[in-house]
Amino acid sequence: MSWMTIGDVGIARVLESNGPFMSIYDFFPDATAEALAPHRHWLDGSALDPANDMMLMPIQSYVVRTPRSTVLIDSCVGNHKSVGWFPAWDKMDGHTWQANLAALDLRPEDIDVVLCTHLHVDHSGWNTRRVDGRWVPNFPNARYVFSRRECANAERMWQKYQDPVWVENVEPVISAGQAVLVDDDHEIDEYVHLEPTPGHTPGHCAVHVAHRGQDAVVTGDLIHSPIQCHYPHWNFKFDFDKAQAAATRQAFLERYTDCATRVLTAHFPLPSTGHVRRDGAAFHFHYDA
Ligand SMILES: [Zn+2]
Repeated sequence: MSWMTIGDVGIARVLESNGPFMSIYDFFPDATAEALAPHRHWLDGSALDPANDMMLMPIQSYVVRTPRSTVLIDSCVGNHKSVGWFPAWDKMDGHTWQANLAALDLRPEDIDVVLCTHLHVDHSGWNTRRVDGRWVPNFPNARYVFSRRECANAERMWQKYQDPVWVENVEPVISAGQAVLVDDDHEIDEYVHLEPTPGHTPGHCAVHVAHRGQDAVVTGDLIHSPIQCHYPHWNFKFDFDKAQAAATRQAFLERYTDCATRVLTAHFPLPSTGHVRRDGAAFHFHYDA
């Protein structure tokens, strides 16, 4: 994908990585071989490695260029971050994400607004980078728009479980005076607004982009895999509030099924974007060509 357009707004992906994450049976405690069987023909080799049933997932950002500003949605894992629970992401020192940003002819200085659908490590990492042992904002000219509720949760996760996202990816931005804390239905401008989609985390927000009768929605982690279009009640084992996550996912799929809204997912296999269509009592994801 290079740039797709929504009216006069351009949207492009910035890929950081693409590969195995964890077993689908570990990821979705409700998954069974019987439930997967009728979907193997489209899952295998795409969202799933048939050799070991590992989920295959990209980690990516979306850049939204409106006539007013350049908005970065979700900032992947980043470099040198502490991710004790997932060694592949721990203390990374990669150049893929920066190279892919540059390939769009963008420098960190060009980002005007940073949005995080939620404050997990794979959606907030490039918020900061390490300079002389300190975390500093990676986008010097950006205003970082954080959900107030999500920030409070990230701080709580640090205090309670020592989850380092708060101290590495969020608090340094607030200390630098570049953060704006907002409600979960905040409007960035006439092109971009947040949609509250709680459950995966308390302040999780989807991002809606609209112009001239066209629209797109960036899902973040309200849904992780196209198999959840068929089984919307399957929760990721780390969904914060399982009942709320399932209700949000079902409502989202109902809302955006069989309509022109383009759905931009975080972790569906590339191209990760497409449309939700009704399929019997559930849904199916039709990828963009
Ligand atoms: Zn994620």
